[in-house]
Amino acid sequence: MKEKYLQKLLTQKNNPLWEKIENKDNINIIIWDNNFSELFSDDYTTEFRLNSLNINSFNHELCHVYINQVFGGIFPTLKLRMPYELNNYITRNCLQHISNCIEHKLFFDLYLEIGGESEQFVSDFYLRKGNNFHLFHRSVSPNNIDGYLGNLFSILGDCNTNMDYSKEINGFRKLSPSIFEASKTLLCEIIDIGICDQLEDFGVNEEGVFINKTQSNSCEDFWNVVFDEMNL
Ligand SMILES: [Zn+2]
Repeated sequence: MKEKYLQKLLTQKNNPLWEKIENKDNINIIIWDNNFSELFSDDYTTEFRLNSLNINSFNHELCHVYINQVFGGIFPTLKLRMPYELNNYITRNCLQHISNCIEHKLFFDLYLEIGGESEQFVSDFYLRKGNNFHLFHRSVSPNNIDGYLGNLFSILGDCNTNMDYSKEINGFRKLSPSIFEASKTLLCEIIDIGICDQLEDFGVNEEGVFINKTQSNSCEDFWNVVFDEMNL
């Protein structure tokens, strides 16, 4: 099935990137009933879960795979550097979402380069992000930090440049100037590192998780600010 799907999904533009992916034998492609696509991976396999044989969805997930390969992904380092005291307040889902948003900003240009269409980048491309969190809260506390970060990164990571988020940005900044700035800095610093082969900067921790040493300082600085603001 995989080879059959690939025949339809690979194009002249995205094939060079596909060729750069290592261990292609461990990659599987399935078409599922959900209305969104995602990338699933564990220690052994990587699975493209596509909602249709859509080249844009494939290209999007291909970029995630590529970033994971050359960059170690954002999630492992972000999770590893989070102070354990925040475990009760910031969910794994939220960390995955933040990582996702940062990765999207990182590879949007690459996605376009391999033939992806901007309006097909994500299924909610035209949806306004942030859920108006800033209108419903007066301050940021351990009880709502998960929502604050999740919604803020949705805005910071939105690749639709036609969206004007100035009102939301002001609202989020007012709620917590320091966490707002730390979030922006984290995003900018990782984007500045860019996508390049940095294998010498990789480390493996006791759990066998790949961490990106270049990212580590940025993640640590970010968490220090969040932790200080929480007064735990
Ligand atoms: Zn994605």
